[in-house]
Amino acid sequence: MGRNARLFVVSGPSGVGKGTILRQVRKDRPELHLTVSATTRKPRPEDTDGVTYHFLSDAAFDQLVSEDAFLEWAHVHGHSYGTLKTEVDPYLAQGCSVVLEIDVQGAFAVREKRPEAVLVFVEPPSVEELERRLRARGTEDEQSIQLRLANARREMELSCKYDVRIVNDKLDEAVERMRALIDHYENEGGFDQDGHHQA
Ligand code: 5GP
Repeated sequence: MGRNARLFVVSGPSGVGKGTILRQVRKDRPELHLTVSATTRKPRPEDTDGVTYHFLSDAAFDQLVSEDAFLEWAHVHGHSYGTLKTEVDPYLAQGCSVVLEIDVQGAFAVREKRPEAVLVFVEPPSVEELERRLRARGTEDEQSIQLRLANARREMELSCKYDVRIVNDKLDEAVERMRALIDHYENEGGFDQDGHHQA
């Protein structure tokens, strides 16, 4: 049976390990396109422009908003983040599944526009464990950690609205679940443009 290119949206609190899981899955599935978002936040030492994000000024971001260049965009942790349509549609058209790693507001905006999208929420085993991981990552100051923990609690309350939830307790198991669910949805029947299941 042939695979259908599908749109996946992956959310979860900052520091939960979404990026790590997706990079692992991609090792076996190099054609899977992980979108590069645009953002107005400042690059961190580990960031590379055009690879981790497209880093933009506020003015450049606003210009793209006015040109309707984004599939979705949102203010997250005090900055603007958005998914460019050019990061999504050309890949789906080529038959490659696309994965967006975005916040909950963005996920629900994508569901409105693309009801066939599969929304996946990655959860930490607990908020205490998330705090431990955020501190161990060492990329945020105390104020930013507190902001991210407050956002995490709010986001986790919305996780019940996602199609699938994955708890990232053991990384290997979370990677395996993500891999299996991508396979599952790609091998399901296709969806028409209104998001209705085709037999
Ligand atoms: P970070 O600054 O730690 O890389 O990301 C902060 C948050 O922004 C994460 O929750 C991430 O999911 C979210 N995010 C990253 N890119 C996008 C995007 O294109 N759109 C939306 N709505 N959220 C994004």
